[in-house]
Amino acid sequence: MLRKPGLICAAALGLLTPAAHARDIKVALTFDDLPALSIVNQQAYIDTSNVRLLSGLKRHHFPAIGFVNEGKLDEGERAAQIANLKRWLNAGMDLGNHTLSHESPNTLGAEGYIADIARGEPVLRSLMAQYHQRLSWFRHPYLETGYPAPVKTRINNWLSAHGYRIAPVTIDADDWEFAEPYDDAIARGDTEAQRHIKGEYLAYTEKLIRWSLASSRNLFGRGIAQVMLLHCTRLNADTIDDLAALLGRLHLHPVRLSRAMRDRAYRIPDTYDGKDGINWLERWSLSLHKDLPDTGNEDPPEDIRKAYDRVDTDPGR
Ligand SMILES: [Zn+2]
Repeated sequence: MLRKPGLICAAALGLLTPAAHARDIKVALTFDDLPALSIVNQQAYIDTSNVRLLSGLKRHHFPAIGFVNEGKLDEGERAAQIANLKRWLNAGMDLGNHTLSHESPNTLGAEGYIADIARGEPVLRSLMAQYHQRLSWFRHPYLETGYPAPVKTRINNWLSAHGYRIAPVTIDADDWEFAEPYDDAIARGDTEAQRHIKGEYLAYTEKLIRWSLASSRNLFGRGIAQVMLLHCTRLNADTIDDLAALLGRLHLHPVRLSRAMRDRAYRIPDTYDGKDGINWLERWSLSLHKDLPDTGNEDPPEDIRKAYDRVDTDPGR
């Protein structure tokens, strides 16, 4: 039987890869709290999380950006922590600033918060210069952008005067809340709990992605490029193949943050000046006076929330 020549040509040209589908929606994968968010304070554990996550991202040809808390460099062995940041740059990933100490602008005030941003950049800036990269992205801890309005305005003005772009978030599946119980299950050698948490995490992530996709259709009548908030955790390192399969099933195609933000949705000003760290779909919903789906973004399952409260040792994430 003859094979269809058209198909052979398309395959040879790589046109049958998932990237070629017109219905694909772009998504930027962003990982906060580098070098790592973990309740296991062992350098080898943190190193393994970084190595495994990065090799997974590379295996799937996913670009990503990591947001660094320089204050975390001294939570482990400083040289080894810096080596983890270099691993991201060696893998061709971008890095951004996530403040020195992961505090809220609502408690530090504008000047204290700006100092915390500035103190979060020396190592990052010099590392990136070695890789001929320029530090240009900032992610707010807790997505808290400053309250009341003059605090937000002052911080935004400082960021733009110092060459920063704000990294928004449209998909937030509370991965940090699953990640710490997962660390705890590893520390206890409880493989059944690890399996259970992974399953709950992936199911919840799918639900939250579907909510974000539905929300963007409500707001814009189309599937805008998304920005997904994740954290540098063992859980994400161990589920990266499952996350890749999930993104593929939902027709989400990972791109660099700068590429995702070319979507015209990101030209809409963020006018929200409240206290809560809400995502950008929620911010646009307020600016555009359009509703979001009222189901599909509920909290993570109760057993996960209880497990998190039991094991969490640090309010920062
Ligand atoms: Zn964070």
